[in-house]
Amino acid sequence: MIQPFDGHAISPETTAFLGQTHRLLIGGEWVDGSGELVTRDPATGLVLARFQTGGAAEVDQAVTAARAAFEGPWGRMTVAERTAMLHKLAQVMDANATLLTELDVIDNGMPRFIAGLTTANCVEMVDYYAGAVMRIEGTTTAPPRHIAAETEALTYTLREPVGVAGQIVPWNVPLSTAILKLAPALAAGCTVVMKPSEETPLSVLALGQMVLDAGLPAGVVNIINGVGAEAGQALAEHPGVDKISFTGSTATGRRIVQAALGNLKKVSLELGGKSPVVVMPDADLSLAIPGVAMATFFLQGQNCMAGTRIFAHAAIHDELMEGLAAFAGGMTLGHGLDFATTQGPLISVAHTEKVMGYIDRAKADGLTLVAGGERLQRAGNFVKPTIFTGCDNSMPLMREEIFGPVMAVQKIETDDLDAIAALANDTPYGLSGSVWTRDLSTAHRMVKRIRAGHVSINCHGAVGTNIPFGGYGQSGWGREFGQEGLDAYLETKAVTARL
Ligand code: NAD
Repeated sequence: MIQPFDGHAISPETTAFLGQTHRLLIGGEWVDGSGELVTRDPATGLVLARFQTGGAAEVDQAVTAARAAFEGPWGRMTVAERTAMLHKLAQVMDANATLLTELDVIDNGMPRFIAGLTTANCVEMVDYYAGAVMRIEGTTTAPPRHIAAETEALTYTLREPVGVAGQIVPWNVPLSTAILKLAPALAAGCTVVMKPSEETPLSVLALGQMVLDAGLPAGVVNIINGVGAEAGQALAEHPGVDKISFTGSTATGRRIVQAALGNLKKVSLELGGKSPVVVMPDADLSLAIPGVAMATFFLQGQNCMAGTRIFAHAAIHDELMEGLAAFAGGMTLGHGLDFATTQGPLISVAHTEKVMGYIDRAKADGLTLVAGGERLQRAGNFVKPTIFTGCDNSMPLMREEIFGPVMAVQKIETDDLDAIAALANDTPYGLSGSVWTRDLSTAHRMVKRIRAGHVSINCHGAVGTNIPFGGYGQSGWGREFGQEGLDAYLETKAVTARL
């Protein structure tokens, strides 16, 4: 008999939240949708909640509400008022951190310690962008020659909000991907229609209530749950949306670009990855073994910046494999609510089958299995942390984003940085990467050669609120986090005055 949450306790606030009716947030009201879906605990397969969904009609109502708020109260608010409201939102989120954390644990499956960290980072990010509102600045520059020849003149720039932003987010870090879009958009003065993933609607719905509790005016934030091909597509196509910000797969990213063509809305894309991890002969293996393991296994490998292509120098390959196998074998798979858990389940049955398909193919291709390679025999979508070596860049394991706990290792014999970089860059993606070496010169020369938006030395995926994040190549367009994340929601207006 499968116990809800594997028998682990949830807080009274999470219990109360799960008992609510989960509607759509439009114009400051929770309203009924036209459809309904269920969301499940991926660690048990049991239904967590039913939630209402919308399609084109509800998206249209939400865009109308967002436009009214943009042209009305939110647009008229002073910078100081907008700053205060965002700080208030951060306070409300902080006060409800347990709820937000537990919802991501039970809806997504991530271990509790990770969800706790991401919730804290989300609070920090809202505060960070609250502070950034006051630092939205234009410039002054020389007036045009033909006007300056006739009269004194002044030329300056204003930074203005793009308008109504559509935001479409995935399931792998639900609250976090929502906040890193919502916070800069609101700071810039935009209003938002957000479409969460149909796999993980809950934490964003809870956030919607916090937005209302913080006192943001009606229509500033609207939330439409629904199926991607319906609600997401309608949002990306809508002529009343000025900008679409999307995080998800590269395949869906292409559809977003097509859908945005109608009104040539601005498009930001955070897409997939297949990030290289280069381990040089002089790497400190006491750092590299846990660091490389978690580059792949963090969030069960359901992580856009996962380092899943390992280029291990022959000099350390065997020792690294031994260490990685021990690390993978020592991971504790279980319900995210269990404090002992270091790896949770995959998001769904279908996704688990896809991941197992890659593993079965790698076995059939005769790759050397170093760890894992099978499901855990229990309820839920658990796949053991898996490592294959003997890979090369022609194999699906090295080329395709698996989005699961599967590491592909290629042994390299060369010390030539250009040759290693050629292997590392042999991918359509370019989101992340890391280099492991004790030699700072080698480290920085290698970093310069890797074609990716976010590269780390002796660590992997070192993201932070203030650090720009985004991809080269087919990993995306634009940057999120930091000042560039705010710029993505601002237009520049140049003004010249004859004086
Ligand atoms: P997905 O592309 O299947 O879905 C993402 C979102 O898009 C969901 O809300 C979905 O409902 C919606 N959607 C689906 N079809 C749509 C359509 N036709 N029009 C509009 N919206 C549509 O991705 P996923 O499986 O939810 O997430 C995993 C992917 O996200 C991976 O590829 C991962 O690398 C990527 N990701 C990237 C980043 C990054 O910052 N680069 C971060 C997290 C995840």
